[in-house]
Amino acid sequence: MKIITSIKEMKKWSHLTHFRNQTIGFVATMGCLHEGHLSLIKSSIAECDATVVSVFVNPTQFNPNEDFDSYPRNIELDKNILREVSGINVLFAPEQKALYPANFQTFVTVKDKTNHLCGRSRPGFFRGVTTIVLKLFNIIQPNTAYFGEKDWQQLEIIRTMVHDLNMDVSIVGKPIVRDKDGLALSSRNLYLSKEDRVSACSLSQALESAQSLVLRGERCAENIRSEIRKIIEQKKGVEIDYISLCDPKNFIEQNEISSEVLVALAVRVGKARLIDNCIIGKP
Ligand code: AMP
Repeated sequence: MKIITSIKEMKKWSHLTHFRNQTIGFVATMGCLHEGHLSLIKSSIAECDATVVSVFVNPTQFNPNEDFDSYPRNIELDKNILREVSGINVLFAPEQKALYPANFQTFVTVKDKTNHLCGRSRPGFFRGVTTIVLKLFNIIQPNTAYFGEKDWQQLEIIRTMVHDLNMDVSIVGKPIVRDKDGLALSSRNLYLSKEDRVSACSLSQALESAQSLVLRGERCAENIRSEIRKIIEQKKGVEIDYISLCDPKNFIEQNEISSEVLVALAVRVGKARLIDNCIIGKP
């Protein structure tokens, strides 16, 4: 595995790889790698000729009151984790000042889809995400890029950007990877104390309960929302940001489960803001 930090060198590698008629698969991460990231990387290795993984904690997707400074970083450990996986060609780990020089002033924004869920709670977050993803796509020129369904709204917004801007990259979404206790893997789980972790499991428990309510015939979104709220609020140290039962593509709230509905949760547990989701009402 080659480690590249320079944008120029990364572009050169990508040009050469395309020149050799090899396809490039790409996984963008903010590091502190876990099995969720590795599942995306393994898909890329299986489906593409070459795989690039980026590690970059993107400052433009954090609000001033958020955890950019304290976001868990451990590039040496990440390198070791990636070296253990055979089939990764490049780790791209650029410096912040290379991607965002002092005079940086261009952003890309997806409109309506960013006005809901995390876009509402974290203004500017998705603008930061789409901007960095576009920049990384321009540098790496992947044929396929892999994203986790854990960040469902992000995945949908990236699909929209790629479609609207006629970009030549296929976006592939992959299922959420969970710990044995059901908690969706996340770099931010490191913020959780032992007690927090018990509370954090209420997210996946609430989603399971929503799924079984629907299987038993419940169709009223408000009843499902109340049940989810009850399960989460029983736990200590939790603060619900949102419980949404919405259209999986445009994120408009639904009153009835008459087709597929995205159940999306954002909950603060101790120092961590956690998100999780599932689809209910599948035919
Ligand atoms: P992050 O490093 O948190 O920005 O995540 C990088 C990529 O990994 C994103 O596409 C995430 O959706 C994906 N990802 C993070 N956690 C998980 C998980 N538990 N299961 C599947 N994909 C994940």
